[in-house]
Amino acid sequence: MFSSIRLPHIYIASFTIAGCGVYSFRRHLIEEALAETPEQEPHVMFRGFRPTSLRVQNVESLSHNTKRLRFEYPDQTWTSGLQLTSSVLVFCWPQRSWFPAIRPYTPVSSLNQRGFLDLVVKKYPHGKVSSHLHTLQPGDSLYFLGPLPGGYRWSAATANEHSRVYLIAGGSGITPTYQLARGILEDNPNANTKVQVVFGANTAQDLVLKKELDILQQRFADRLQMRYLVSEAGPSTGEADNKDVSYGARVNTSRLRQFFGARREGDEKVFVCGPPGMEKALVGGRTCGRGILEELGFQKDQVHVF
Ligand SMILES: Cc1cc2nc3c(=O)[nH]c(=O)nc-3n(C[C@H](O)[C@H](O)[C@H](O)COP(=O)(O)OP(=O)(O)OC[C@H]3O[C@@H](n4cnc5c(N)ncnc54)[C@H](O)[C@@H]3O)c2cc1C
Repeated sequence: MFSSIRLPHIYIASFTIAGCGVYSFRRHLIEEALAETPEQEPHVMFRGFRPTSLRVQNVESLSHNTKRLRFEYPDQTWTSGLQLTSSVLVFCWPQRSWFPAIRPYTPVSSLNQRGFLDLVVKKYPHGKVSSHLHTLQPGDSLYFLGPLPGGYRWSAATANEHSRVYLIAGGSGITPTYQLARGILEDNPNANTKVQVVFGANTAQDLVLKKELDILQQRFADRLQMRYLVSEAGPSTGEADNKDVSYGARVNTSRLRQFFGARREGDEKVFVCGPPGMEKALVGGRTCGRGILEELGFQKDQVHVF
């Protein structure tokens, strides 16, 4: 009797306290973000993993499900302060939910770029954060936390440790791949590291950032080689001629042997970022045995999965 009367009150009180807690946390994050931004170290946007609010400057549609979003820094002279390779956390309250949804995204603008940061975001069906990001318009704001710990540290010292770097990307896995390829080439223009990017996608329209990758290839023709593999059988009607794209082609053992050659050197390094099925096929696992990269003669410590 006692508990049957008291219990609803306990629930109501608990929900009220929890609700107030979530609300206060949310207000705290927002207020801290607004208060911290102008006081941060000069010249650097992401520092100390503090929440930061950035305004959308521009939105560009890259394909039926992918957009590039440009976020402006409060000061046009600031850079990201991120190291190669880095991601940032984005947090938002999709459809006015109480709890924030938090996901990592990889900037595709140069990490030394002043004044803004670009994200390329693929929208997943019912995806909480990607759907929210696809609703953003110029003038809207988004909360960031960064830098995200982890990533692969590539520095000037690393640059000459590797004679060849192979980057294998699938779908939206191109974002860290592009960041790394660009960083290797632009940050160390005098290094000798040769870079080969294998980019697999379902259709030619899914080869987002192809324009940027092609420009990079032209600028660093002696160091960068691009390979585009598309699983659809041929170009769609009305599609521009993509001579450098292989159709009806997948990332598999024979393709990679053809691209990377049969002989392995100890100073080669492979980076992989793609859908789980592709990563599993490349690096193997308990359920699927040896991966393609092992078959090609790469040692485990030569392979990094983003
Ligand atoms: C370090 C890191 C960097 C990343 N950088 C980028 C980036 O630059 N651009 C980008 O678009 N994404 C990037 N991602 C993926 C991103 O963090 C989110 O996972 C993605 O946007 C989906 O989040 P969501 O909230 O929209 O989907 P959720 O609400 O989490 O999931 C909705 C549905 O989508 C499916 N789904 C979610 N993610 C994937 C996926 N990766 N592949 C296949 N199905 C999926 C889920 O199974 C589910 O059915 C990165 C991930 C990591 C770990």
